[in-house]
Order: sequence, then structure tokens, then C-alpha cells
Amino acid sequence: MSKERSEILMEYLVTRGFIWPSFEIYRSMVEVGGFYDYGPLGVELKRNIIEKWRRVFIYPYQDIIYEIETPIIMPEIVFQASGHLEHFTDYIVECLKCGRKYRADHLVEEELKKRGINIRTEGLSERDIEKLIIEHGIRCPQCGGELSKVYRFNLLFRTTIGPYSNNVGYIRPETAQGMFVSFPRVFDLAGRKLPFGIAQIGKVGRNEISPRQGLIRLREFSQMEIELFFDPKNPTCPFLDDVRDVTVRVVTEDEVKKAIEEGRDPVPIELKPKDIIERRIVPNEWMAFYMALAVVYLNELGIPVDHQYFLAKLPEERAHYAACAFDQMVYSERFGWIEVSGLAYRTDYDLSRHEKFSGRELRAERTLEKPIEVETVRVYPNPQKIREVYGDKAREVMKLIASIDEENARRLASGESIKLGDYVISPEMVFIKVEKRKITREKFVPHVVEPSFGIDRIVYVTLEHAFTLVDGDKILLKLPPDIAPIKVAVLPLVRKEPLVSIGVKIARELYRKGLKVLYDDDGSIGTRYSRCDELGIPIAITVDDRTVEDNTVTLRDRDTKMQVRAKISDVYNIVRSVIEDRKNLLNLGKELGLELVERA
Ligand code: AMP
Repeated sequence: MSKERSEILMEYLVTRGFIWPSFEIYRSMVEVGGFYDYGPLGVELKRNIIEKWRRVFIYPYQDIIYEIETPIIMPEIVFQASGHLEHFTDYIVECLKCGRKYRADHLVEEELKKRGINIRTEGLSERDIEKLIIEHGIRCPQCGGELSKVYRFNLLFRTTIGPYSNNVGYIRPETAQGMFVSFPRVFDLAGRKLPFGIAQIGKVGRNEISPRQGLIRLREFSQMEIELFFDPKNPTCPFLDDVRDVTVRVVTEDEVKKAIEEGRDPVPIELKPKDIIERRIVPNEWMAFYMALAVVYLNELGIPVDHQYFLAKLPEERAHYAACAFDQMVYSERFGWIEVSGLAYRTDYDLSRHEKFSGRELRAERTLEKPIEVETVRVYPNPQKIREVYGDKAREVMKLIASIDEENARRLASGESIKLGDYVISPEMVFIKVEKRKITREKFVPHVVEPSFGIDRIVYVTLEHAFTLVDGDKILLKLPPDIAPIKVAVLPLVRKEPLVSIGVKIARELYRKGLKVLYDDDGSIGTRYSRCDELGIPIAITVDDRTVEDNTVTLRDRDTKMQVRAKISDVYNIVRSVIEDRKNLLNLGKELGLELVERA
């Protein structure tokens, strides 16, 4: 996007009340980048984008996907278990003269770009980045000072829970951990059957080192995530047919490597989900399914397929939990290709870690292909021997032996003595019985595929794609009708009675039916139509003199400016068909035999 266009867009988003930088009145006093408010139109748009996600990812699969909501503050142990305390870091470098701090990898990329050198820093170690700084003599871009060593900075926001300073908590950096931690409850509710998924939509916090790109890099943002749990021995996705014909553009791991070697940009190939699976570009069907669904989702938000692709992450670029990962990239005129969602195969990493840290079993069960015979060792107390050694404590000892675990039972069976509480138990104190049992089921930790969407980036790219300048400077926001913040405008042709009363009545009826409506009777009709186009309102209803005679109004289509004339009593159903069923107003008008009116 030309500078001018991107500036017009940003100014438009702020002045029209979509978004603006938070804490504006204090901005000159404190450094608080990376936080944005959503204004009235932004809230509506964001809500519609979220609802569309539910319609694509959850509602059609509601028999296996369960949406939950968990806290944004979580105790330290959760992030010890998840690995975020150790791994969720970025590289930071400090100016030794002015004290400014920079995200080291970004600084190196930006400074080298200025010198015409394009370099990828993803996956490099702190020493590699330090070497680049020294080799290229990179200094502080603000004051020219020398830079410090590169070190790691943890992005978790830390707090304490309650009044005890040792009770440490963190704001979650992804909604995922809440879903892993509550896995046993939701899995029980779902009947303990796989495949099964948990979805969560909510705020997360990442203490980004130097966020600068508006909604693209925030310190507090929202995510929509699914953790899809499946049996690794049966990784089939039963819904592949739903996305059979979707074209997915993919940059494979091999292509990433080749492009790096050859010093060029990677080139995506166009594949159907079936091909992605057959060519083993992904390790399971779920990943191909979610890739295709993500393409459909963004496409329904108005982002063409050729403005999207999936980029494979090389092993050194992946998050600590991922065995395979792709970023869904979208083209932005302003920012270039940006990642709007991540798709990761998290294996059994998270559940296994939480099992270890919590001591709770986080497993599913499967039927074995062939039953297996196992030996179980059981021990029963020998009261006489126990009394001889422990006298009046014998009852307590017998109770302990009754609840002995398999490992201790085996040790006794092999002739070892063991300790139970304060008591030493020798093999003579028990009767040992070895039993053979047939086992038909086994327990295992489910594997996970996770599609993870950043809502704010999606809001931005959706707006950028909808933002159109007509005849140089007239703004037309071509949002798909179902996500437009305001669905319909009601405009009396002129501010006079009874047009105003009729208009107000139509607007009120539409409010009551749950539609977001703009009523406007101020200024010329042409100016008001332009305002509707600017705000992306798909339909404008005009009340004119003929309305008084025959109870009809005109409905104007935002994108073609054509109008149809319909009865007031039919307006709601027509608007609904356009908004919810995504019908084209003019085609619908033809279907219903409505009168077509000249362009306005
Ligand atoms: P990740 O867990 O890093 O793969 O992030 C998942 C998604 O969250 C990304 O694809 C982005 O859309 C979004 N995201 C990550 N970091 C930020 C950020 N600092 N600001 C806004 N969105 C972000």
C-alpha cells in the first residue's frame, strides 16, 4: 500500500472508531506501545469475525468440539509444565550508551535491510545474532552507541496471586494451556471419545520487546484456538470431504530450505488437502483439514486465496512444543506477508508435561488390536507374622499392605523388603499371588493438532482488504455483509414528516430484531450514501414520498449502488437473506420480482 493509502486507512480506522492506541491521554508520559482499544465499530467487527470463526470451525463440528473459557491469569506451575518459563523468550540487545533496548533479531534484519542485505534471523542462536551485529558493525539506530551482548528476555507478564509475594502467576501467552489443564473435565463431559477438541477464544498477554506495527504486534491481544486431541494410531479426520475441493497454497519444508540456499523467496504450490496428505507434507490428516478450513475462513472474510499461503517452519524455527508447524501467511499491502495463524502438531507434549507436573492422569483409552496377557502380582497380609514383628501396630500395617501398589508388590515378590510409611515390610509378612489377566484396553496420552488464530491481525488484514478508494479519495469499505459492523442504514430522503416517523419506526423494529442499524436524517442523501459506503454498511433503506402512498422503500446495494423497491413488511427478511445467507441484493430482488431502481 502506498504510504498515503496506508496513512488514510490508519486515520480512517481511528477517526471512524474502529481502533485507536490505548491510554492516549497518558502516552506522552509513559511508554505503553502495543495496546489498542477497539471502538464501537471495531467491537462489532471483531465480534462478527469471531462469530464467523465459530461458524466455520466449531458449529459444523459441535459433536466433537467444545468451547470453554478459562482464566487469563494462571499459576506458575502451569508455565513450568508447559515450558513457557524456560522457552518463551525473544532476543534482546541494549544500547550501552543511551540504554534503549531492541529486539535483537528484528534490529539486525532492519539495519541490514537498510544496507540492501536481506537476511532471515528466525532460528538463529543468540551467539549467531551477536556475530552478525559485530560483523556488520551494527550500532544503536537512535544514538549510534555500542550494543551489548545479546540475551534472552522472557515474554511472560508476571504477577502475584493474592497477597503472598511467593504465589507467582502469569498472564497466559496463549489460550491453549487453559484447555490442556482442564482436559480431564472436558474429556469426561465429551464421553471420553476421540477425536475430540476443545476451543477457546480470549485475551492473552505477551510482553513484546518493541511492538510498533499497530494491531500486528500487540502486548495484549486475542486468540481463537482449538486443541484437537486424537489417537496417534488412528489419525484419520472424518471431515476431509467437507474441504475436498479447497485449494491450499503451501510452501513445504523442502522449498523453504531450497529458497534459503538459493537466496530467493519461497514459492507456494497449489494443492488439495488429499495431495497434502499423500505427499506427506503434513504428518496427519487433521493438519491438512485445518489448513483448508483456515483458507475457507479467511476467504469468507474477503481475503482471496492468492493472498494467502501456508509456510512450513524449519525445526529450529518451531516453538518448543511443535513437531511440525506451518504459519498461515496473508499479504498485507502495508506490512508485506504476515502470519495470521499458526498450525502446530503439538504431539503429546503438553498433556504429558502436565501429567508429570500435576501427578494427574491425562489419558485416553483404546482397544488393543489383540488382547495381551499380563501378570499381576497381588500381596495379602500374613497376620501372624505381622503381629510377631509389630504387635499392637499390626492392624495399621495390614491396612497399608492392603493398598500396596504394583511396583512394591513386585519387589516383595522378588524377595526384597520395602518400606511403607514408618514400617519395613519383609516378604515373610505377606502371601504373594501371581495372577494372569487378559487385557483388551490400553491407556495412552492423546496427540494434539492446534490451529491458533490471532484475531487482531485478522481484523487488520480484513479491513485492509475491504478498504477501497473510489475516484481517488472516496472510501468504500467492501466488507462481506455478514461481518460488516453496521448491517443496515435507514435514511428518510429528506428530514420531514411523515418520512422521519416512518424511518424511525423501521429503524426501531430492526433494532429490536437484533440488527445493528444506523438511522440518519442529517444532510443530503448523496452525502449520507457516501457515509454508508465509508462505514461498510451493506444496505441503505430510503424512505421517500412514495413510501407514504404505498408502504414501500428502496434498498440500496453498497457495492453496485443499484436499488430495489420492496414493501416495508418484507424489509427484515430481505436484509436477513443478504446478511446471513450471503445473498446478493439484486439477484434476490430479481428472484422476488421486485422493481429495480436507477443507480444512486
Ligand atoms: P503463536 O502462538 O506465536 O503461533 O501465535 C498465534 C497467532 O497469534 C499468530 O499467528 C498471530 O496471529 C497472533 N499473534 C502472535 N503474537 C502476536 C502479537 N504480539 N500481537 C498480535 N497478534 C499476535
